[in-house]
Amino acid sequence: VRFRPGQAPLAVAALAAVAAALDAPPPLDAAVAQAALTLRERAIAGSRAVEWVRGLTDEAGPRLAGSPGDRAAVDWALATLRAQGFANVRAERVLVPVWRRGVETGEITAPWPHTLALTALGGSIPTPEGGLEAEIVELPSMDALEGNADRVKGKIVFFNVRMERAADMSGYARAVPVRSDGASRAGKLGAVGVLIRSIGTDHNPTPHTGGLRYADGAPKVPAAALAIPDAELLERLGRTGRPVRVRFSLGCRELPQAESANVIGEIKGGDKKDEIVLLGAHLDSWDLGTGAIDDGAGCGIVIEAARLIGQLPVKPRRTVRVVLFANEENGSAGGKAYALAHAAELPKHAAALEADSGTGAPSGLGWTAGPSAEALLKAIARILEPIGAGALKADGGGGADIGPLKDAGVPLFAAIQDTSRYFDFHHTANDTFDKIEPEALDRMVASVAVFAWVAAMAPEPFEKIPEEKRTEPRQRAP
Ligand SMILES: [Zn+2]
Repeated sequence: VRFRPGQAPLAVAALAAVAAALDAPPPLDAAVAQAALTLRERAIAGSRAVEWVRGLTDEAGPRLAGSPGDRAAVDWALATLRAQGFANVRAERVLVPVWRRGVETGEITAPWPHTLALTALGGSIPTPEGGLEAEIVELPSMDALEGNADRVKGKIVFFNVRMERAADMSGYARAVPVRSDGASRAGKLGAVGVLIRSIGTDHNPTPHTGGLRYADGAPKVPAAALAIPDAELLERLGRTGRPVRVRFSLGCRELPQAESANVIGEIKGGDKKDEIVLLGAHLDSWDLGTGAIDDGAGCGIVIEAARLIGQLPVKPRRTVRVVLFANEENGSAGGKAYALAHAAELPKHAAALEADSGTGAPSGLGWTAGPSAEALLKAIARILEPIGAGALKADGGGGADIGPLKDAGVPLFAAIQDTSRYFDFHHTANDTFDKIEPEALDRMVASVAVFAWVAAMAPEPFEKIPEEKRTEPRQRAP
């Protein structure tokens, strides 16, 4: 049976026949397989995920950690989970860093005047009062600093790194280090400021923000991202051979830490209710847009996947726990706080999956667990293959919020999504509800619901991550 758009949900009799055919090792119990097919078809027929994304983005708006929108998001999440019948709905306190964007302006002052669309990178220090003006030095990469140490002193370094469009995260992974580390690398060599070509794939006048990390002991210099058309303008002016001068002004500032929360709700399990299948997404967003694709989409997907499981006539054996994490974007305090607060319970975490790659359709599941987990994953993949989501990617599980669970060996998962358009909008003022793709979102709900249901029903949980794979350098930047 192959799903095609527009096809009616499968009849119940057909479900039984399909379930009987799903005997991949280890064979799923026929009733479990049948319920998985029901979940898949209900999600595909039109889920309420888009309604949760609309509620979060329209009612809370932008929700950078510690902002009024962040508090509104916590209230929205508590009210929504309660209204949908989740059990043990609660807010677990998290202390978060607070960074506020101020007025930000930029202009080219020579060789010809132009205004620039730019935005501070999250965590940047402000420029001096009245702004910062200097000649720019354009570099194609951070490594290019090596041969140019004498040229960058007293200048504004312009890192002109092009991000490649890709259906997976590879283009982002290659380009993003310049955003996180460029300011400190250039500051160490005496640069007075840093501008980057936005890490994005669009050609809109909307710069892409994102977190930077100041290295310990390196001088802190202000850093901002240029909208891509303006980065290309700077590039062209540089090709004329004339000195290019830029003035920019950032009014951002850091405030004392504030309280936020991880919001949790559960579909209570049965005979194995103390074992947890965690479905995570992050509740916070950057401040420029309303965070519909990052990560309103993930919140909608995990809430809806768990809600559909709760609507089945049979309760799951293990507890399905939705965690909407605080402060993923500029500190990941929520993910760290969860791992600490639940340290004693982590051995009982049977699986954790994070949805934080936007609104694009799924093509499969990434997984990081012990090798014997693959057999059960193959059974899940067979159920998801007809909706185009049956690929499996070893060592592909995890995410910024569930990453801290890795040390405890918790098996980690992620839906593999089409991100070819994600970085047109990611971290910009253009990340708004109208970018949500309801049909693709429903396929994500189907994938996550089927995964979580099977994970909650399997006789044996997934094998833990082997010791030697538990610690690894930092997860990908948020
Ligand atoms: Zn995100």
